[in-house]
Amino acid sequence: MKKVIVVGAGVAGMSAGIYALQSGFDVTIFEQHSLPGGNCTSWKRKGYLFEGALHWLTGSSKDSSLYQVWRNVGAIKDATNIYIKDIFYTYYHNGQAIHLYCDPDRLERHFLEISPEDAKEIKLLCKDVRCFMKVSVPVLDVKGVKVRHKNKMGMSMLLGLLPILPKMSAYDKMSVLEYSQRFQHPGIRALLLNVVGANLKASSLFFTLGCVASGDGGYLEGGSLVMTQNMSKRFIELGGKIEYSSHVEKVIVEDDKASGVIVKGQRVDADAVIIAIDTLTAAEKLFERPLNETWIEKMRKDIKFMACTFIGIGVETDLSSLPQGLVFPVERPFTFAGETFYTFSLNNYAHYKDYAPKGCSALTTCLMGDTYAFWKGKKESGEYEMEKEKLAKLIISLVEQNIPQASGKIAVVDVATPLTYERYCGTKHGSWMTLQEKGDKSMTYPSVSDTVKQLYFAGQRLQTPGGLPVAVDTGRKAVQYLCRDIDTIFQGKMNEAVN
Ligand SMILES: Cc1cc2nc3c(=O)[nH]c(=O)nc-3n(C[C@H](O)[C@H](O)[C@H](O)COP(=O)(O)OP(=O)(O)OC[C@H]3O[C@@H](n4cnc5c(N)ncnc54)[C@H](O)[C@@H]3O)c2cc1C
Repeated sequence: MKKVIVVGAGVAGMSAGIYALQSGFDVTIFEQHSLPGGNCTSWKRKGYLFEGALHWLTGSSKDSSLYQVWRNVGAIKDATNIYIKDIFYTYYHNGQAIHLYCDPDRLERHFLEISPEDAKEIKLLCKDVRCFMKVSVPVLDVKGVKVRHKNKMGMSMLLGLLPILPKMSAYDKMSVLEYSQRFQHPGIRALLLNVVGANLKASSLFFTLGCVASGDGGYLEGGSLVMTQNMSKRFIELGGKIEYSSHVEKVIVEDDKASGVIVKGQRVDADAVIIAIDTLTAAEKLFERPLNETWIEKMRKDIKFMACTFIGIGVETDLSSLPQGLVFPVERPFTFAGETFYTFSLNNYAHYKDYAPKGCSALTTCLMGDTYAFWKGKKESGEYEMEKEKLAKLIISLVEQNIPQASGKIAVVDVATPLTYERYCGTKHGSWMTLQEKGDKSMTYPSVSDTVKQLYFAGQRLQTPGGLPVAVDTGRKAVQYLCRDIDTIFQGKMNEAVN
């Protein structure tokens, strides 16, 4: 049995750990924090649980190939309730609620009622959402690996992809902002801008709308925290070890082979190392000499960091009569850290059990933008806490303006900045996905080192735009490369329900 060390117990690290155990390796994960999950986490403040990552999970539908992966790694169990939203977001336009229904037929009827003058574009939007519904993230095997369960891209999936290729290419070339301007109704424009962000490729908007329309964009009961705790339990049940509070300082490279790591000043030997932290951070910090990999150099040049300032809000009133995704216009656009916001959006967790004390509600909002430099500057000038307080006050006033029943009842405001994410997960710029703006090519980077043997990579950074599906899939892929290199059969269970 070969000894494998995994660096990081995020979703990618635990996926790699589980697949490596199944393929017969002896696995230890070193995690710097005291919990598993990394960016995929939630936290409690004064009785309020703030969902920090999972908004929709690609692969939560039984019909998708990724579902089997989530089952195998224990993220989804038989008993897991998967909530599918009817309405993705609701925008309040001059007091009128405009709903972004997930079902394209319902969406078409609703939008046509609201804005008959946009009929042509509404019909096209819904037609294209129906096309993108057929797309499912494929789970593929790496070339040359021997696998116990062959995992091919089905013919029906390939055929399903054909009609969207020309649409994808057209939507890749425009931003969501440009696409939204096809609509005359300002409410419809604002709703579309809020799904994935205004600067992203319009194709990201269609992938997301297609995903939720097909029922494959559910929210798992208990959210990020329960999901990643389930994964860590599965890893341990399979015989793996997780060492918490164990920051890996360096990967040991001897004779061009990864032969272990240095943790807390101690050497720990291994036959292979899988790095499941932000690849860019790893390349910069985990090696005595910088890794000389052309693909990492390319990644460094090309990556545009997706990051946010996240705010959790605890309100001492029951907001379950309000929709789960709320978007409000703002009287005057506000600028924060160099980013201008035209709307204010909230996720409302009042519909879920145990997210807040009885009769109260947990809300969250993300101010999207790579504001790392801004916050770093505030930290250096000693104004960091003051700036967080200023932001908390702005958020309180926005919540109170838009939800009058919350007025005077805001008990908690918790601000996490890109510096928080950097400290917590070690990600570059505190970024947890990669921005894909119009014209940007989709990229998949290798999971294996070109220059150091027995060294593998997993994690969100390896495939644009990243996120949980990429994290879990690259963990699996890293183990496939390892199995291929040592001529061992990859044993990942694809067709077995695991509980
Ligand atoms: C606000 C927000 C909303 C999101 N919404 C969604 C969504 O709806 N859907 C979706 O798919 N994705 C979403 N994401 C993105 C998703 O959460 C991340 O892309 C994913 O969790 C990344 O997982 P990972 O395992 O690649 O990396 P990470 O989560 O960064 O895990 C890396 C782990 O390695 C540890 N580590 C780092 N350095 C070291 C070291 N030197 N030694 C030991 N341990 C180390 C870290 O502590 C961490 O636990 C969201 C993220 C955020 C923050």
